Amino acid sequence: MNTASARQRIVVVGGGFAGLNFVKHIDKKRYEVIIIDRNNFHSFPPLFYQVASSGLDPASISFPFRREMSKKRARGVRYHMGDVRSIDLAMHTVITQFETLTYDKLVIAAGTTNNFFGNTDLSKKVFTLKSTSEALRLRNEILGRLERASICADQQTRRKLLSFVVIGGGPSGVEVAGAIGEMKRYIISREYPGISADDVSVTIVEGSDRLLRSMSRQASEQALAALGSLMVDVKLNTLMDSYDDGTVSLHDGTTIHSDVVVWTAGITGEPLPVSGGDISRGPGGRILTDICNRVKGQHDVFAIGDIAYCESEDYPHGFPQLAQVAIQQGRHLARQLNGGRVVDPFVYTDRGSMATIGRNRAVADLGHLHLHGFTAWLAWMFIHLISLLGMRNKLTVLINWIWAYFTYNASLRLIIRASRYPEELSDSQDADFVNHT
Ligand SMILES: Cc1cc2nc3c(=O)[nH]c(=O)nc-3n(C[C@H](O)[C@H](O)[C@H](O)COP(=O)(O)OP(=O)(O)OC[C@H]3O[C@@H](n4cnc5c(N)ncnc54)[C@H](O)[C@@H]3O)c2cc1C
Repeated sequence: MNTASARQRIVVVGGGFAGLNFVKHIDKKRYEVIIIDRNNFHSFPPLFYQVASSGLDPASISFPFRREMSKKRARGVRYHMGDVRSIDLAMHTVITQFETLTYDKLVIAAGTTNNFFGNTDLSKKVFTLKSTSEALRLRNEILGRLERASICADQQTRRKLLSFVVIGGGPSGVEVAGAIGEMKRYIISREYPGISADDVSVTIVEGSDRLLRSMSRQASEQALAALGSLMVDVKLNTLMDSYDDGTVSLHDGTTIHSDVVVWTAGITGEPLPVSGGDISRGPGGRILTDICNRVKGQHDVFAIGDIAYCESEDYPHGFPQLAQVAIQQGRHLARQLNGGRVVDPFVYTDRGSMATIGRNRAVADLGHLHLHGFTAWLAWMFIHLISLLGMRNKLTVLINWIWAYFTYNASLRLIIRASRYPEELSDSQDADFVNHT
């Protein structure tokens, strides 16, 4: 008997925290498992802001899927690179630009993308931080502007070049504003003699009355003070009305000139066109599931991680969009399918949340324990190091952090752009469309 064909096939869309943890824990003897991701590596979003601010190189927070699939826990899982363009629920197929795959069970773990709330124009103008390539784009822009400003004699032009605005005061916004603030305070004067700290302005704009709204009030106040010490201007209770011609217009009538606006103010579930049936979306464009992560109205389709939405008694607005939820849902669903029946409700164990604001400064809400300052920063570093995949990555990041802590080393501040040639790009792989049955 061909055991491969006797096994049911599970196709997993997305190799983030949810998808990767699912494939690691699913029984490969019982199921044939294929994981699809548009990138050939797993990324670590909590450290994107360090890539954007040249604190870490992208390779140290990325991990190739093929390497991961060769490890004991995931051995037997097949990785296919591809961007899922549609799902046919009636035919049980997933279609990428390269192939059509059939499935017996489908696990959607595609996470979220930037949400511009219908303002498509914004997507053409703002920088974002939802992927490694977006972080690199921002890094190149910041470094390019520092180079241009350092050879510019006119102070007004320098100030125009070096005005950075971050929209959104959640953890991503606070962390990226803190990192640029840290460059302003510690690095610019050392490495760019033509620029003074006064030439650089960093503003964070938040619509509510506090930063880090998902954390405790104490954490919000400490984050505000920490950003202040990094010379970041914080505007609370302020909404952005529009962004045109390099002018950010705020709801209070004021304007800020900036050609670098970093948008961290909204996310929405990855859009995955569906035919042959229906997958309902709830708040934040997330897929509605039951408490076992089964997609509402579907028997063999599941959604886990950031893209899934389920209200429970403890979480009436859905589970938080955090790495821990994604990891725990991936593992839980795998165990259920290993048992042959998806019946046990998902229960989230909250391990707390943290955010860092430059060196020595962080805030952490860990159950009843609240940490801030240096202790929280050490805790933050430890948690992020142990969460990274691969010993090599852990060591590289640790060495980088220690080195940067003592030396403010500039070795990562490289501007590497895409090559000019070939001038006419053709995605030849698109033509090799493969059909799998
Ligand atoms: C800048 C930033 C900072 C963050 N900081 C923290 C933090 O400090 N702590 C914390 O707990 N959480 C943090 N988060 C949230 C955390 O990263 C998410 O909760 C977590 O990544 C969700 O995991 P996931 O597997 O659901 O989705 P993701 O990790 O987003 O993975 C989705 C995967 O699906 C792939 N994919 C998407 N669409 C397609 C498609 N159509 N075809 C093929 N592949 C596709 C993507 O390439 C990606 O690999 C942060 C997020 C961001 C963006």
